[in-house]
This record gives sequence, structure tokens and C-alpha cells, in this order.
Amino acid sequence: MTMLVTRGLTKTYAAGTGCLDISLEIKPGQIFGLLGPNGAGKSTFVKMAIGLLRPDAGSGTLLGKPIGHPESRRGLGYLPELFRFQDWLTGEEVLRYHAGLYGKTLGETRSPAMASRIRDVLAMTGLGKRGQDRVRQYSKGMQQRLGLACALLMNPELVILDEPSSALDPIGRYEVRQLLERLRAEGKTVFLNTHLLEDVEAVCDEVAFLHLGRLRAVGTMRELLHAG
Ligand code: ADP
Ligand code: ADP
Repeated sequence: MTMLVTRGLTKTYAAGTGCLDISLEIKPGQIFGLLGPNGAGKSTFVKMAIGLLRPDAGSGTLLGKPIGHPESRRGLGYLPELFRFQDWLTGEEVLRYHAGLYGKTLGETRSPAMASRIRDVLAMTGLGKRGQDRVRQYSKGMQQRLGLACALLMNPELVILDEPSSALDPIGRYEVRQLLERLRAEGKTVFLNTHLLEDVEAVCDEVAFLHLGRLRAVGTMRELLHAG
């Protein structure tokens, strides 16, 4: 099954910005990078693709279901570009709350299995020792790591990450790239919004360049570098 297919997704804002006629196909098992400068339209595209923002035109399928279908969310993990946690909660509590949002009952969110999964995703994102601390004691980078942990919690088939390392230093960015490679090795599919060429060079199997709301090129890094 193709993870994500979009056909002509378009959203135009008053100023003439947004996303124009975006058609992409994300195959399973790859790390796909959507690369573009700030304001290119990456977040707008992703929000349309997962049904958070209604397109002016275009359509698509997410995890085999029409975009916006509630069931397509089941296998999806999403890290928004901007997120805010209830900062009086601990990292573990945020994750438990998140599991509740994804349909787990109160009992299930408090089960030993969930506690173990929460420990796993905290460890995967480099927060292994901080799960009992309140989010208000986290740095911006740690909050971003917690967002990543939330996106991975339900063991999604497809992970869509909107600038997952924007608040991280070079070592943190390297760790995120390693995590993406680990997800790919587990057979997951990753869609990455980034403005960092180093990210797509280091880990992306396929990349699309977005500029001023339009796709400029799509292909493997090798194809794009030799395109002349
Ligand atoms: P990126 O994620 O690549 O930084 P965005 O998708 O956030 O880009 O934004 C693309 C363009 O659309 C920008 O020019 C931005 O200012 C504009 N834009 C995004 N959201 C809105 C909105 N809700 N209303 C008006 N303009 C918007
Ligand atoms: P923003 O700050 O960019 O508006 P939010 O944090 O409000 O983003 O989240 C936007 C939407 O994304 C919400 O409807 C929320 O349920 C959904 N969402 C947040 N985290 C995830 C996740 N890990 N997986 C799937 N959907 C998520």
C-alpha cells in the first residue's frame, strides 16, 4: 500500500502564498524529505495531507483511505511544527494523555504495557532519564523530543514530522537522523519536512524541493544531483 498519495493539493492564502498543485507519492519503507526554505509551504502541505486543513483543490489517500478519513489516523504519527504541552504534567503523563487521545481507555493508558511503551519512546528520543520531570522544566529541545515521542507512541506505520529538529543543536539533529534510520530499518515510513539540506543528504531516500508553494523537483538525491 502506498503510504500517501496526493493529487494536485492546493491551498492559496490571501497573499497568494500557500501550496500550489502538489502531487506526490510516498512509498512504504522510505524516508521522504520535503525540503524548502521557511515559508515554502511545507507545513501547509502536510496539514492538508493529513486532513487538518481543507484544500482549495486536489485530493489524495493517506494509508489507503481518502484524506480526512478518521481511520487513516490510526496508523499515523504526526509531529506538528508548533506544539504546546500542558507543562505542569510530567513527560510520562503527557504521553499517557496522548494515548488517551488515540482511543486508549483510562485503564489501558495506565497498563504495564503502556508504561513500558512510554519508557521505550522516551529512551528512543533521548529523554530516558527525564520522564518524571515536569515539562516546564524541559528546554525547547527536550520539548521537541517529547513531541517526537508522542508521534511514535502508538507505533505508527507512517510518521510525518514537521521540522523535528528545529529546536535542537547539531548533536540533537544527528540523533534525530539516527532515529529516522532506525524507524526505516523497522520497516516504517517517514515523511520529513525540513529546511536543512544536511538532513536530506544524510538520510532521505527520496526528496522533493518546494519553493514558493510549488514543487521544483522530485527524485532520489542521486537523480537530483546529476540532473545538471
Ligand atoms: P513552511 O512550512 O515551508 O515554512 P508554511 O506552510 O508554514 O511554510 O507557509 C507557507 C506560506 O503560507 C507562507 O508564506 C505563510 O506565511 C503562508 N501561510 C501559512 N499559513 C497561513 C495562514 N493560516 N494564513 C495566511 N497565510 C498563511
Ligand atoms: P499546531 O500547534 O501546529 O496547531 P497541534 O499541536 O494543535 O498543532 O496539533 C494539531 C493537530 O494534530 C491536532 O488535531 C492533534 O490532534 C493532531 N496531532 C498532534 N499530535 C499528533 C500525533 N502525534 N499524531 C497524529 N496527530 C497528532
